[in-house]
Amino acid sequence: MFTRNACTNIKGSYLNALRIISLFLELKENPGLDIFPHTYIFGAKAAPGYHMAKEIIKLICHISKEIEKNPRIKEKLNVVFLEDYCVTLAESLMPAAEISQQISLAGKEASGTGNMKFMINGGITLGTYDGANIEIAEAVGNENIFIFGLKSEEVEGLWKAGYNSSYYYIRNEKLKNTIDFLNTGFDGNFKEIVKYLLVQGVADPYLCLADFNSYDEACLKAENAYKDFYKWNKMSLINIANAGRFAADRSISEYAKYIWDLKPLN
Ligand SMILES: *Cc1c(COP(=O)(O)O)cnc(C)c1O
Repeated sequence: MFTRNACTNIKGSYLNALRIISLFLELKENPGLDIFPHTYIFGAKAAPGYHMAKEIIKLICHISKEIEKNPRIKEKLNVVFLEDYCVTLAESLMPAAEISQQISLAGKEASGTGNMKFMINGGITLGTYDGANIEIAEAVGNENIFIFGLKSEEVEGLWKAGYNSSYYYIRNEKLKNTIDFLNTGFDGNFKEIVKYLLVQGVADPYLCLADFNSYDEACLKAENAYKDFYKWNKMSLINIANAGRFAADRSISEYAKYIWDLKPLN
């Protein structure tokens, strides 16, 4: 199974990396663990000054190297980071992906156009209820998409109530083991990420820890669906068949109608 990860935002890349590390730790403990073999392909870019985004790219490359050293883990878990993500590379990646992870903090850093490109190529969206994911969900129905996590009004509610990432860290053993490993493992190179998630300023500003469990469950649900060949391909076809609404023609006709106030000549 191939997953391509939209990595242009913090929440998506952090949740992804945390879950991959948790799988890595589980497989390290028990190499015979019955998990579905999975390759995670990252295509990503970070703005030159975006420090935390660069840290996560470093982390993903580190995980990939660590897996290389463990042939038994590599049979079930693979991480590939493709350099120089660009349109040409995306043209090969998008048709190959089976899951399109489109994760953002609802209301804050909405996923945009990549999800549409995957959809038309049969990739099934696993993402938060945000941005164009909402339109995809409306087009295909909830049974043909994997939506998880806090919705924008819940995000607001959590901020108002006072968000405390440690609450989730303490209560979820899988998450705690993963973050603890990040503090000491990988040659101690990623303590800064731990601080970012638990301590520094407003800790975990993208609410990654709050959504970790829900994300984990959605991934398992997707994996189970994938095991059913007919079910999966039906879902995929329904996505392709409904992708037409994102055509440029529709977009231009809506601009003409609602914004430019233009009428067609014919
Ligand atoms: C589509 C595309 C993007 C934008 O992706 P989003 O998922 O909308 O953030 C960025 N880079 C490349 C190369 C693309 O093809």
